[in-house]
Amino acid sequence: MVAFVKRFVHENDVDSIQELEAKEEDDVLVRFKGMELQGSVEYGSTGSAGKDFGGMQSSKPLAVIRPAVSEDVAKVIRLASRSQHLTVAARGNGHSINGQAMAHRGFVVDMRSMETRIEVGPTGKYADVSGGALWEEVLKRCVSGHGLAPRSWTDYLGLTVGGTLSNAGVSGQTFIYGPQTENVTELEVITGKGDVTVCSHTQNSELFFSVLGGLGQFGIITRARVLLQPAPNMVRWIRMVYNEFSEFTRDAELLVTREEGDSFDYVEGFVFVNSNDPVNGWPSVPLDGNYPFDSTRIPRTAGPVLYCLEVALHHRKDDRPSTVGIRVEQLLGQLRFCEDLRFEVDVSYMDFLLRVQRAEKEAKDGGIWDAPHPWLNLFVSKTDIADFDRVVFKNILKRGVGGPMLVYPLLRSKWDNRTSIVLPDGDIFYIVALLRFCFPYTKGLSVEEMIAQNQEIIKSCNTNGLDFKLYLPHYNSKEGWKQHFGNQWTRFQERKACFDPNAILAPGQKIFPKNW
Ligand code: FAD
Repeated sequence: MVAFVKRFVHENDVDSIQELEAKEEDDVLVRFKGMELQGSVEYGSTGSAGKDFGGMQSSKPLAVIRPAVSEDVAKVIRLASRSQHLTVAARGNGHSINGQAMAHRGFVVDMRSMETRIEVGPTGKYADVSGGALWEEVLKRCVSGHGLAPRSWTDYLGLTVGGTLSNAGVSGQTFIYGPQTENVTELEVITGKGDVTVCSHTQNSELFFSVLGGLGQFGIITRARVLLQPAPNMVRWIRMVYNEFSEFTRDAELLVTREEGDSFDYVEGFVFVNSNDPVNGWPSVPLDGNYPFDSTRIPRTAGPVLYCLEVALHHRKDDRPSTVGIRVEQLLGQLRFCEDLRFEVDVSYMDFLLRVQRAEKEAKDGGIWDAPHPWLNLFVSKTDIADFDRVVFKNILKRGVGGPMLVYPLLRSKWDNRTSIVLPDGDIFYIVALLRFCFPYTKGLSVEEMIAQNQEIIKSCNTNGLDFKLYLPHYNSKEGWKQHFGNQWTRFQERKACFDPNAILAPGQKIFPKNW
């Protein structure tokens, strides 16, 4: 009925349209209040559901749903599908940058409110984990209860399982095991039609691959079966400094392409400013306060930025120190980092994986965790990474971003083409993560200037014809999304038509408007 009346409302008569929408919302809320959920619903007051880590967008959902069981999620989706405008966004831990987990005047489903279930299977090969569980919770339960751990991580573990699986989930183990999306074998998903479906490589496989890296467009993940392996208890954590980008990339690629089991267990890298700036420069490198950065060791030919390879080797407490040392020296022996600019510590496996949580605490104390974060993440093809260094790191970003500038190689062969993730061409590509922090009391760039700088970076990549894709992508136009997906766009659209034909889910991604 609403649709019928609306056709007669003049297009420019915004007030009338808003009145109709408001009336429809009232009707829906009446029906909603009559619906029996095991969980709870909060109307009106938005709290954290209208914000995210990016801190640059806000929205007003109609209601926040705190589901108790999967069927609650299904009921909410089914109700939304009967209305003209309503949308539903799953909210993991709200660590998106650009409002991806928001639903303006729609329903936000708070996945954290479902009971956290982490059940290790009888063979110890996997754990069944709820979609709203934090990776930090998964780590602690699996290690302390069973001496087991997932194989593939993100750097920061205050993210939900469903939230990272909707993107990819990348860290220093990705070169061995692939992203987190490659390390789950079964999902329970509530589709945009409100169907509760179990899917895997062999059962409802189209849904399984659609949802992985699917930006929340095809279903809400309520359970994931995560692969496990025995957890080590110690980690040798090492950083080495490079003056030349070509040597840094040569060594990083050497380490990630060695035979499985014959390299480090973790390989990452970052760029830092060649100055004593406490945030962006030399002091950001040492792992242990007792060994400061000796800048006299930097070659005289060094430019405005330097590079750091970060690696880690798992070992056990009862391994002889000499055994670990010999293995480390064997692996480092072939690398060409600056002599005497090497830093290392032994830490427990848990402390290593929870390293960013310590940084989080410091950032919260310093007031920069809750300030805006105009982050930019890209995948750049190996063929173009030297140009990226020349144009972006050595030029646009030569003073840093007020936080880490990660850059390290990943192997295409570890990513299944059937998921919804899009990547640049070639066997090797680099992740570049510009993790900007705004310092309220110092003379850094303003948020607006940071956003403008991000746009300048993307424009430079396009102008120079670099082969890249945004990771954790964000576009405001359909044209932007079409270009992003390239020859995968048709498949992505077909998947949407199949699993969420009314475009109810994850409206904050701004890919498909409702009634597209
Ligand atoms: P949200 O921001 O809540 O949601 C993200 C999207 O997924 C939304 O569209 C939402 O609707 C959808 N969604 C959420 N839950 C579900 C679900 N259960 N089912 C279906 N869709 C769902 N990424 C990496 O790969 N590697 C890193 O090392 C890394 N480090 C990070 C560190 C920090 C401090 C931050 C803020 C982000 C980092 N990220 C990293 C990015 C992160 O993986 C993504 O932003 C991720 O989406 C955040 O998870 P979340 O639970 O907060 O998701």
